Amino acid sequence: MTERKTFFADVILPVPVNQVFTYRVPFEMNAHVRFGVRVIVPFGRSKLLTGIIVRVHEEIPARYTAKYVEHVLDDEPIILPVQYRFWQWISSYYMAPLGDVMNAALPSNFKLASETRVVLHPDYEGAPESITDKEYQILEALEIQEVLDLKQISDIAGIKTIQPVIKKLIDRKLVMTLEDLRDKYTPKKQVHVGFHEFYHDEANLSALISELEGKSSLGKQLDAVLSLLKHLDSPTDFVLRRELEEAGISVSSISTLEKKEVFVQQRLTISRLTEADGSTGGFKPLSEAQSTALQSVREHFETKQVNLLHGVTGSGKTEIYVELIREQLEQGKQVLFLLPEIALTTQLIRRLQAYFGELVGVYHSRFNQNERVEIWNALLKNDPSRFRILLGARSAIFLPFSSLGLIIVDEEHESSFKQFDPSPRYHARDSAVVLGHLLKAPVLLGSATPSMESFWNARQGKYGFTELTSRFGDIRLPEILCADVKKERKQKTMHGHFTRFLVEHMESCMKEGKQVILFQNRRGYTPLWMCEICNWVPTCKNCDVSLTYHKHTNSLKCHYCSYVSPPVGSCANCGSNRLSMLGFGTEKIEDDLGLLFPDRKVMRMDLDTTRSKNAYEVLLNDFESGQVDILIGTQMVTKGLDFDNVGLVGILDADMLLNRTDFRAVERAYQLMSQVAGRAGRKGARGKVVIQAGDPDHWVIQKVMQHDYTGFYESEILERKNYFYPPFYKLIDITLKHKDPNVLNQGSDELARAMRQVFHERVLGPEFPVVPRIQNLFLKQIKLKIERDAPEKKVKERLQELVTNFYSVPFNKSIRMSINIDPA
Ligand code: ADP
Ligand code: ZN
Ligand code: ZN
Repeated sequence: MTERKTFFADVILPVPVNQVFTYRVPFEMNAHVRFGVRVIVPFGRSKLLTGIIVRVHEEIPARYTAKYVEHVLDDEPIILPVQYRFWQWISSYYMAPLGDVMNAALPSNFKLASETRVVLHPDYEGAPESITDKEYQILEALEIQEVLDLKQISDIAGIKTIQPVIKKLIDRKLVMTLEDLRDKYTPKKQVHVGFHEFYHDEANLSALISELEGKSSLGKQLDAVLSLLKHLDSPTDFVLRRELEEAGISVSSISTLEKKEVFVQQRLTISRLTEADGSTGGFKPLSEAQSTALQSVREHFETKQVNLLHGVTGSGKTEIYVELIREQLEQGKQVLFLLPEIALTTQLIRRLQAYFGELVGVYHSRFNQNERVEIWNALLKNDPSRFRILLGARSAIFLPFSSLGLIIVDEEHESSFKQFDPSPRYHARDSAVVLGHLLKAPVLLGSATPSMESFWNARQGKYGFTELTSRFGDIRLPEILCADVKKERKQKTMHGHFTRFLVEHMESCMKEGKQVILFQNRRGYTPLWMCEICNWVPTCKNCDVSLTYHKHTNSLKCHYCSYVSPPVGSCANCGSNRLSMLGFGTEKIEDDLGLLFPDRKVMRMDLDTTRSKNAYEVLLNDFESGQVDILIGTQMVTKGLDFDNVGLVGILDADMLLNRTDFRAVERAYQLMSQVAGRAGRKGARGKVVIQAGDPDHWVIQKVMQHDYTGFYESEILERKNYFYPPFYKLIDITLKHKDPNVLNQGSDELARAMRQVFHERVLGPEFPVVPRIQNLFLKQIKLKIERDAPEKKVKERLQELVTNFYSVPFNKSIRMSINIDPA
């Protein structure tokens, strides 16, 4: 019998220490402890933490007396052994504590901690009969107090380990964590608004509108009626009230209209996970070029685990993915489809849901935690009826796949696949390749502008390579023209930030009834105010950066912290009131367009206009339905948008893209320009692109104009080689932070010196980065450049030793450090 034996469990805990922790298992739990189940354990003096058992053994810890496991939370493991191996790889490759990896991997519902706050579930309708007295006590307390943390609940119920009780209440959908509620939990039934039956008749509806238009005091009601009309496909439909609210209609106007029997409000069921129509079928037959490409991908997969699909914008990569996905589903396999964060809210999801219906799961930070757990559990069970294709940004790589047949990484060149903060600073594309290896699943990387690394790997023969050089349906790639900003300045033909050349092209495009997309990779109004007398610029009080003026809020904002200040009227240095604006952001462009094209409808898409949950979708819908003539946006408009009616794309400031200093500047510039150019003329007549630049002969612009990715690659790869950059060298950035620059300088010098003794000339710095102070902390960077074929594990072990030594010096303990492997 195992009962009498003493077992120990190694547990991963959510603390930033690079080790597992060993606990003793009480006899009565012997039968319940095993790999992958969560346990609650004491940590430190009074804390209880939730962790995951990764090993059960009989080895008594030599150096300390193990504390006891307090409680086992799960009957079944919530992770699979192969996932743990994946976590270990991430932890070791990216030099991140296992606890950090676990934190990134698990939906937060799995991580009940004593600070977790709990509320009643929004669908709660009173305590059911089948609950215990303790559970009843908790629900009752929550009815009165609304929010309680686990410690308070534990006091109220008089139970020390409260997590299992709470977990049960969560599972039964009686309570939920506050965090989930904040994640915009959508109850199953929500208030919808529609027209009263009387107004389903168009004549009555027009009469109502004229009546409202007649009285200026009824303006708000008119707005509400028009807004509702805009949201409905037919007057008999209903729309979520929240959507009207997001469009600026107040609940009180809605109720007024309800009282007047114009509107009806109803609580209707909405399906949470599949919001699309869900109709499956309608696969498109592939073109000859697509079929050939598909065949080539299949053949390469026989010998290569990773394949690169280089297909120009509009070549129809998605349909190739769809075929490959279908094959896997037919064999009962799962598919992981990674794409950049922003592309996730758009057309692609709808396209895949139209094909595969319920089998599509979207695993995304914008969705609430319950949905995430639902997907997680379905995958753990390998449920064949749901969630076989998982669409997600970075964190979807952590899902518990067990029969993965294929991983697709679309837009593989996107830098947003790299997590920057917090640790683990992993690259989801590179990690996906490793995951594919662990699960024996082939990986397909797709892009119109592959990363230098991936293309190099393909050229080396390490990856299989397939090319699609023409657009679907013989649509030609857009014609790319360049506007010479310097020349037009001299000739005084500029209209603000617009060349005459661009303005004329915009005019003729819109005259033909087509839409324009303008790209400016900077938000706000003007990035820099400068005193004309002494060159003083207003800067953030917490960071060493200049403040950006936002006209809409009439304020100066820091884009690195949340600091906001009122605009300044005069120079703080010399008192002069001659302040001039340098540079321009999307908001300024929007303003200028109002003067240039007063009769055209302009829409702006950037971080400032897309903060609310559905804003992005609403903007895109308005654009797609032709209500907008000109869309101006930051790099949000470069990604994956597929609109039929875009005749012209304007890139307002190519110089800004090209003049960045990091080693990826030109790669990014090429990618951004080509991608945004690719939005033009995707259907029908050939599209046009106008690039405004100070130096139209710049070699990168020339390559973009010629649609010559390969030529671009061949020049740039030589630079990389000559200057010891990836893919020939691996980079590690070490950033040290401290509020006192003297402490920081001394510490970083010391670390760099120690590193030089080991790594010699491969160490660069320490140096202040471009922004040397953020949120009141000074920053210094040390860079390490390692030969590609160097023993990577050893390098990191040595580095880890140096870091450990560094922190053994008391003086250094207050310095914060982050290590970034393969910075993007
Ligand atoms: P990419 O992702 O390569 O830029 P898309 O996959 O978005 O290109 O395809 C471009 C356009 O061509 C889309 O509007 C898509 O619906 C259409 N398309 C692609 N392949 C087919 C096909 N086989 N049959 C019909 N339409 C297609
Ligand atoms: Zn001044
Ligand atoms: Zn700041």
